[in-house]
Amino acid sequence: MHQLYSMEIHNFSAGPCILPPEVMQEASQAVLDFNGMGLSLIEISHRSKEFVAVMEEARSLVKSLLGLPERFDVLFLQGGASLGFLTAAYNFLPEGGAAAYVDTGTWANKAIKEAKHAGIAHVVGSSKGTNYDRIPTLDATPSGSAYLHYTSNNTIFGTQFSGVPSSDVPLIADMSSDIFSRTFNPEAFHMIYAGAQKNMGPAGTVMYAFDRDAVGKTGRSIPSYLDLAVHASKDSMFNTPPVFPIYVSMLTMRWMHALGGVEVMEARNQRKSNLIYQEIDRNALFEGHATMDSRSNMNATFRLKDDALGTAFDALWKEAGINGLKGHRSVGGYRASMYNALSESSVQVLVDVMKELERSH
Ligand SMILES: *Cc1c(COP(=O)(O)O)cnc(C)c1O
Repeated sequence: MHQLYSMEIHNFSAGPCILPPEVMQEASQAVLDFNGMGLSLIEISHRSKEFVAVMEEARSLVKSLLGLPERFDVLFLQGGASLGFLTAAYNFLPEGGAAAYVDTGTWANKAIKEAKHAGIAHVVGSSKGTNYDRIPTLDATPSGSAYLHYTSNNTIFGTQFSGVPSSDVPLIADMSSDIFSRTFNPEAFHMIYAGAQKNMGPAGTVMYAFDRDAVGKTGRSIPSYLDLAVHASKDSMFNTPPVFPIYVSMLTMRWMHALGGVEVMEARNQRKSNLIYQEIDRNALFEGHATMDSRSNMNATFRLKDDALGTAFDALWKEAGINGLKGHRSVGGYRASMYNALSESSVQVLVDVMKELERSH
């Protein structure tokens, strides 16, 4: 919360991550007194008309921001994207069947591991051999695959699919770390899912948008909580939903909508990533991890060519009020996560610090 500090903090954290200050303000107010009810948002019934209105607005904002066709249902459930890996397979992988998966790093691997509880997961592309520094070219999807699953943005390695991959079979995507960051055509999808804590809200809920005509066809018995049809039939209120994360996600979506929607976010994100990558390429002290054609607009991964400068660089960015820049242990170096709520001026501060390191060494 910027206003608590005398110096502005530039939050580059990969997740949980920065949310718009206006959203923080309104969310904190709702915890004290929601809609003038004299009650906190977190102490009213999830079946009250006040909370049902929140849930319905959240679901409908997802549809309008993503431009989803009518056949899509939207749910806000628990378990994070990590349970989403299993939910995807249980609902769309037929009993005894197979699906195709792209291996682009840690989260993709976890999705593959969970899918194996439900059937066969064919890997149709992997960049493991080069420590996931790129989006691999995809092999043909083996015939009989129920869907192609991919991770649209690889939060840890800083790579991102440049667009929706072309596929002979329906798509399922984990969009946890780039949902609402750019426009895409949802026509080819069975399902899109995203944990809230990267671009939407606090940790504790995961958004599922799925084709209701495509579920209920696997021939398997699905435990209730994993069954998307069960949740859809209860309007995402099968059990007590995570009310606070859903409320804050709704506020963030309202914020995006008021600013002009996903197109506006995309243009801002493009400007921010141009700023950082231009500096990584220009500054002789640094090098990027991801190959140019696979670079993520959300998470820029880079390192110092000379590790000996690490102490000086760390001191400089900390002094400038930058937070959360350390890279994930599987990549090392640094990671600048630039989600929707991060301002262009924060990215400029980081660029200035990189220039200052160059000037002083
Ligand atoms: C963070 C992340 C996850 C894990 O999300 P949880 O909500 O912690 O389960 C999965 N996929 C991607 C792409 C992520 O960035």
